[in-house]
Amino acid sequence: MLKRQKEKFKHLEVGINTVFSAVNQHKIFEIYSYISHLSPLPDCMAQLLIRSNPRESNSKQNIEIDKYREWTDMYAKDMLKGKFEKDVLVKIATILMYKYIYKTVTTQKRQIHCYAGIAGAVIDNEGMVGPCEHKPPYGSLRNNRYDFKKIWHSDLSEKMRHDSYNHCLCTNEPKWWHPSVSYNKELVDEGIALSEKLSGENKDAA
Ligand code: SF4
Repeated sequence: MLKRQKEKFKHLEVGINTVFSAVNQHKIFEIYSYISHLSPLPDCMAQLLIRSNPRESNSKQNIEIDKYREWTDMYAKDMLKGKFEKDVLVKIATILMYKYIYKTVTTQKRQIHCYAGIAGAVIDNEGMVGPCEHKPPYGSLRNNRYDFKKIWHSDLSEKMRHDSYNHCLCTNEPKWWHPSVSYNKELVDEGIALSEKLSGENKDAA
């Protein structure tokens, strides 16, 4: 079916998201192998780590984080070989994101400043504006005559931005991948070094 849709819609891109949890960690490599042998292949995969307060509370218990590392490394290696994702900047941001999420979980220490609510905002289906889906919203568009700037520049927003940047710790991939990976200077520097290393290796292989 995917093949037919892709033939029909030339610009269609399909991604597959998998959430690593206590429920599927024993089958995660099997799942990966299945997906990576599909034909046609999905254009990208998002490998997420279970976070926050899942409905099934057991799904966060006894997470085998080294397995998560192995699983995300597998995807990184496949990407570097040219499988899945084509955009080199996306590949680099993804590799850094997985590396620092692993470090965050294993050390339980913040690895980077969070730019959620600083370089972007979440607006939910009720018109509530906030930094991300885990934090309370800054305010309601409906209650503020749809004046986004009023909410964005309020004292509460400023205070919450300060907290996100300086104190908050989580592994929320959408907020890591963009904006937090791309706005943290150290990670950008590491990304540039990685990109130069990769292009050097590609030249050697050519
Ligand atoms: S660290 Fe996580 S919970 Fe805190 S503001 Fe950033 S994305 Fe939201």
